[in-house]
Amino acid sequence: MLTLKKSVLITVAVIVLITAALGVGAGVAAAYVPSSNGKIIVIDAGHGGIDAGVYGVESGVKESEINLAIAKLLQGKFVNAGFRVVMTRKTQAGLYGTKSKGFKMRDMKKRRQIIEESNPDMVISVHQNYCPLPSRRGGQVFYNPESESGKKLAECVQAELNALACDGKKTSALKGDYYLLKCSESPSVIVECGFLSNPDDDKLLNDGAYRESVAYAVFKGALFYFC
Ligand SMILES: [Zn+2]
Repeated sequence: MLTLKKSVLITVAVIVLITAALGVGAGVAAAYVPSSNGKIIVIDAGHGGIDAGVYGVESGVKESEINLAIAKLLQGKFVNAGFRVVMTRKTQAGLYGTKSKGFKMRDMKKRRQIIEESNPDMVISVHQNYCPLPSRRGGQVFYNPESESGKKLAECVQAELNALACDGKKTSALKGDYYLLKCSESPSVIVECGFLSNPDDDKLLNDGAYRESVAYAVFKGALFYFC
């Protein structure tokens, strides 16, 4: 439970940063929230190129395209709030170089290299989920179980995604044994924004306004981590 004073401070900081993210009063944010200054966020749009990830069950959309769209929205919010952002992938292309055998590992190693060279304060990897059970939907965040800071960040982001859930269902952040979560000592999360195997989530994730609210939820969760 937060003390009243701390919760007020967090609320003020979040409102100021959110205002800045919306492109209003950025100067105010710079004056009152120095904690964002200079902080480096790596945003990783999962998959790309010949690795499309999963596909929308009805739309057929590639996961890699949705990932990049949300990653770019997220980038805009962090930049407007005074953070420095490094994108692992800026286009629809993958990071593997040639399409020859072993491309997936080359792609992952390139992401690791970008993360290491950035010396980030936070790593957010954006993905979309898939489940044989078509009823599964909503956001799911993963963290490295050996990282306390990763767990904290994951819980902050998960809480915001839970608040966004159309069906009101809440889920907990989960431990995940993923390569990308082990590329940095800094808090790292994989954010599965929704299930492309669920027709409703598939439809929502193809909608720009919904992607905007997902990006905003992830951004807000990240801000709460820093508060
Ligand atoms: Zn994925």
